[in-house]
Amino acid sequence: MGVIMTTSAARVPAGRESSGGLPRVVVIGSGFGGLFAAQALRKAPVELTLVAKTTHHLFQPLLYQVATGILSEGEIAPPTREILRRHDNTRVVLGEATDIDLAARTVTSHVLGRTTVHPYDELIVAAGAGQSYFGNDRFAEFAPGMKSIDDALELRGRIFGAFELAELAETQEEVDRLLTFVVVGAGPTGVEMAGQIAELARRTLRRDFRRIDPTTARVVLLDAAPYVLPSFGEKLGGRARRQLNDIGVEVQLGAMVTDVDADGLEIKDSDGQVRRLNAATKIWAAGVQASPLGRILGEQSGAEIDRAGRVTVQPDLTLPGHPEVHVVGDMMALDKLPGVAQVAIQGGRYAAESIKRRLSGKAPQPPFQYHDKGSMATISRFSAVAEVGKLKFEGFLAWVMWLVVHLVYIVGFKSRITTVLHWSVSFLGRGRSERVTTQQQVYGRLALEHLGPGFEASKTGGPKTSPVDEDLTGRESA
Ligand SMILES: Cc1cc2nc3c(=O)[nH]c(=O)nc-3n(C[C@H](O)[C@H](O)[C@H](O)COP(=O)(O)OP(=O)(O)OC[C@H]3O[C@@H](n4cnc5c(N)ncnc54)[C@H](O)[C@@H]3O)c2cc1C
Repeated sequence: MGVIMTTSAARVPAGRESSGGLPRVVVIGSGFGGLFAAQALRKAPVELTLVAKTTHHLFQPLLYQVATGILSEGEIAPPTREILRRHDNTRVVLGEATDIDLAARTVTSHVLGRTTVHPYDELIVAAGAGQSYFGNDRFAEFAPGMKSIDDALELRGRIFGAFELAELAETQEEVDRLLTFVVVGAGPTGVEMAGQIAELARRTLRRDFRRIDPTTARVVLLDAAPYVLPSFGEKLGGRARRQLNDIGVEVQLGAMVTDVDADGLEIKDSDGQVRRLNAATKIWAAGVQASPLGRILGEQSGAEIDRAGRVTVQPDLTLPGHPEVHVVGDMMALDKLPGVAQVAIQGGRYAAESIKRRLSGKAPQPPFQYHDKGSMATISRFSAVAEVGKLKFEGFLAWVMWLVVHLVYIVGFKSRITTVLHWSVSFLGRGRSERVTTQQQVYGRLALEHLGPGFEASKTGGPKTSPVDEDLTGRESA
């Protein structure tokens, strides 16, 4: 294995430290780019270290189903260590990469105060992207994004919690606020999330309450753009909008969010009018910002960094002047390619092939060429839109295509079986198998933020408020 230098007394076992003279490949990230790159290097004569800040590979396209109680987190987030257990040349290491030194060829990672330095001969950076609030990070407190398992579980707690609190509410005004769900961003994630909340309210929860009628819940999908699903074009976007309307989602376009608080949002419409929308549950599905590692790479290599923090790479996905550093997936900017799973998968495999060729003295590959396999988004059960080349599909056929594609890409046989079972419960019946919500889910993120970096409360003067002062919707009690 690659030589690992660690500041902690608890060092890795000696037998695992020797590089054995094989080239050391470090991969940052266990998402689509990192995992598929590591898999493509399985038989290569290298010592591969995969460093990631979570212990799992995350199938982000189905996060919304965890948030709305259809799937469990385990089904979309298998342990990376288990996926790569038969890769004898690979070591999986938990840690957040915080620095890359291009001159020294090292990656520094941290986990709970332990610092590890990973030397490399070849580096694949696939750290993905986080949520962007377009400079309004304060919105995050009240409108969580959906990028991680933690996010999805927090949203699950907030969504189901809002119905619970509505059952207890004393005024109609309070019920209305609690039963209004606003999804910001009408891209695929926002559309899928809004559709699922509407189905949850109208089908799953229909008979579960006595004082409130869940079917009256208001689900609003907002976007500053004039279209739903802009990347699918006007025609499919229009169809998606009609299908959303049919299941009771209110679509508000040309609507820019200018403020968010515990009780709702302030919105500026395209005619300049500013209005308020009271809603307990707000979900942010607009905008992404690439990993801060991109800026570190840009500063040291001179590579251009775009507004979303992505690194402009060479046609072979490497950094200018650094053919040993490959940047793939959501972190890379090349030919206006979208931030989608297939770009990351194909980029990860391409980077792995470049490394294999260099090591075996073969000629380099031709420049990276993305093969667009199409895009799709579900709206509700049995209803989706899909685009494959010039062909456009909608309704049940598109939904079946969506089902098959997602099953193929979910990692692991066990996960596929249980996913099919949970989908049967939700799509053929009315149920949702994963309705458990816990206080940890709802309060955890804000509690950790109150505690400050490294969870050391003393550094920040301790928590500003106790999270138990806040209700399930993140609202501070009077
Ligand atoms: C809610 C949602 C729905 C989506 N739906 C679709 C869809 O339907 N179809 C589609 O094609 N695409 C979809 N996408 C986009 C797709 O998931 C991404 O394009 C893809 O995951 C990018 O792959 P990646 O490897 O670049 O990054 P990611 O898959 O995000 O992986 C990044 C990895 O890096 C790790 N990491 C991050 N920072 C560090 C660090 N500093 N140190 C160590 N590790 C780090 C993370 O833990 C993670 O393992 C969706 C995304 C989201 C968020």
